[in-house]
Amino acid sequence: MLYLGCHLTSSKGYEHMGKEAVQIGANTFQFFTRNPRGGAAKAIDPADVAKLLQIARENEFSKIIAHAPYTLNPCSKEEKTREFAYMVMRDDLQRMEYLPGNYYNFHPGSHVGQGGEEGIRLIAKMLNDILTPEQSTVVLLETMAGKGSEVGRNFEELAAIREQVLLKDKVGICLDTCHVHDGGYDIVKDLDGMVTEFDRVVGLSHLKALHINDSMNPVGAHKDRHARIGEGYIGAQAIGRVLNHPALKGLPAVLETPQENLAGYQAEIAMLRSLEK
Ligand code: FE
Ligand code: FE
Ligand code: ZN
Repeated sequence: MLYLGCHLTSSKGYEHMGKEAVQIGANTFQFFTRNPRGGAAKAIDPADVAKLLQIARENEFSKIIAHAPYTLNPCSKEEKTREFAYMVMRDDLQRMEYLPGNYYNFHPGSHVGQGGEEGIRLIAKMLNDILTPEQSTVVLLETMAGKGSEVGRNFEELAAIREQVLLKDKVGICLDTCHVHDGGYDIVKDLDGMVTEFDRVVGLSHLKALHINDSMNPVGAHKDRHARIGEGYIGAQAIGRVLNHPALKGLPAVLETPQENLAGYQAEIAMLRSLEK
């Protein structure tokens, strides 16, 4: 069984996203918890969320992924920016409890010249300050392309963050195919090698979700520019191998490709389902 979906806009509410997901043949999806550039979140409507949960049950969705805003940077040099990251994550995780047991994905951060080690320390500190044993949400660190001073540019950095977190059960990894490819892991020529390396460094049991994107740049480019599946350097066949890999199959897999509209995602999801082995 493949659990496929795409990024959906949350402005019309939770039930609306559930309906859209079903309409395009998805059985999972991702949404921003607020404006991706930051800003206030809308108050949650529990009745609206309950309708989404019913749609998800009826259509056998896998876990749903909330994505933190891009501006969340717990390892910024600026104290104000770090405080904003705390405020956003605390608030988002509280709202996530209305849809219990799902995932909250975030970009670990950019250390902006302070060094990777200090970045890792600050990210782990935020998680230690915010995560609680009672929360049902698992927070996901996204694998990054290594653009600028991004932390999470390789599996070692992600493992180092997890190692410093006390509530390790609450922290997993979301693997973005464009990002790991841009980060230098050749998933086209040696997918098994990447999977083996992930297992050695992080542990496959901590891999909870996938972002499925092609890349506009060659392996190791550290650029992070997503392409539609089959229109980049990864290619549809390699993406198909990712989805069918015994260690990865069954994880919620979300498209973040540049599409004009939902019909674009619908076609991409159908194409990916046709690759199921
Ligand atoms: Fe992301
Ligand atoms: Fe991503
Ligand atoms: Zn990206």
